[in-house]
Amino acid sequence: MTKVIDFQSVLEKVGKFNVKNKILLIPEMNRIGSHLLAAVFRSFGINAMVIETYKGLALGKEYTSGKECFPCQITTGDILYFLESEKQKLKEKFDPKKYVYFMPESNGPCRFGMYNKYQRIVLDSFSDFKDIKIATLSTADGYSLAGLIEEEKVRDLRKVSYWSIVVGDILDRLLWRIRPYEREEGMADEFIEESMHRMEKAFEKYGEKKDLDRIMDHLDEIVLEGKEIIDPRIPLKPKIGIVGEIYVRSHVHANQHIIKVLERYGAECVNASISEWVNYTTYDRLRDAKIGFRLNFKQWRLKQVKEYIKDMMHYRAELFYQEMMQDKIYKRARSLLDISEDHKIGDLEDILKEEDIYSFDVGTEACLSIPSIIHYIREGFNGVVNVYPFTCMPSTITSAVIRPIIADMKVPYLDAPYDSSVQPGREAAIRTFMYQAFQHFKRKGRPFS
Ligand code: SF4
Repeated sequence: MTKVIDFQSVLEKVGKFNVKNKILLIPEMNRIGSHLLAAVFRSFGINAMVIETYKGLALGKEYTSGKECFPCQITTGDILYFLESEKQKLKEKFDPKKYVYFMPESNGPCRFGMYNKYQRIVLDSFSDFKDIKIATLSTADGYSLAGLIEEEKVRDLRKVSYWSIVVGDILDRLLWRIRPYEREEGMADEFIEESMHRMEKAFEKYGEKKDLDRIMDHLDEIVLEGKEIIDPRIPLKPKIGIVGEIYVRSHVHANQHIIKVLERYGAECVNASISEWVNYTTYDRLRDAKIGFRLNFKQWRLKQVKEYIKDMMHYRAELFYQEMMQDKIYKRARSLLDISEDHKIGDLEDILKEEDIYSFDVGTEACLSIPSIIHYIREGFNGVVNVYPFTCMPSTITSAVIRPIIADMKVPYLDAPYDSSVQPGREAAIRTFMYQAFQHFKRKGRPFS
């Protein structure tokens, strides 16, 4: 394929577009989170759907050079596979202008900010797909949804989207809490899949009304039913914390079901959450605003100082709201079952400062993964796994920084880099890691929840 880079196309067809009367295509990263987010969008009148994932991996590989990050290959394949299938199904009725593809981005030193530009180039190379716009959200404005729908609905859409992300995290945590202790093999997976659809319906029905109580009533029922799947005769197992790159650690096909493999060898796992990343982007914007304020104040640039004060107030309020809602939803679910709590971003930055090993100034997910590992260890976890795409920059930094520290702490640690290949030694590495985790568990016990 000859790729002609048309920068005008990137400027014109990647950005914030009103998605009214369009079909918004949401890629599946974390299965539950993506589906609940699509349900929230539908509740606000946006025709959103989650596109199937991993079936188009061959296409993704064909239209990438091999140097791109693994999540970029997967998502490129997903969108091409979907569009090809739609074209075949709808034939002459296929209208590319009906679709908007949703691909958020992040600024900073790694490559996530480039996926949607690269995918623009790929879509432009197909005459049938070049009119499909790419709607993006950026960490530069804390994933503001402004521009996607009518101005008056933006605030509510953002709020309810955030609830859906937290509820998605809770369902994931419920699954990881009950599956290692399930009465019959397969019960937990089946139950959570069905629960996800129940929560989709709840968000569709109550999302736009902002009726969190009704949504939480459904979640309560699910947590209580899920609790019944636990066989109380099965003793507690070693607890393993997972960190890493958000896409691959959350995408079960991309990480070759690492949580299930760990469970097969006797673990109970907790993966880092999706809300952690959303909270981090808001926290980081607040941090930037504070830095901008200080620098401009020193130079007495009053106009800029005023702007930064406005930003500080805005992001402080956003972060306060997010953490308050997260606490509220977790508290209610945890009153019914001891699912794991989530980290606070401010606490993670404090850990980095205390240990003096990395800085939020550098940015990237390493800011979250490095202190989260230490947080897990302080809580008494029996081992930690860092899951990431092969060659991922932030996760490689995490590994380099944490390895000597964790060796001193005498807690089992495993790096698990993934591309689509199957490494013959991986299962042996996981088994060895789990053996060490069991030894740690015998010596030290495990955290209660
Ligand atoms: S976090 Fe890793 S996988 Fe994601 S864009 Fe950055 S380098 Fe690539």
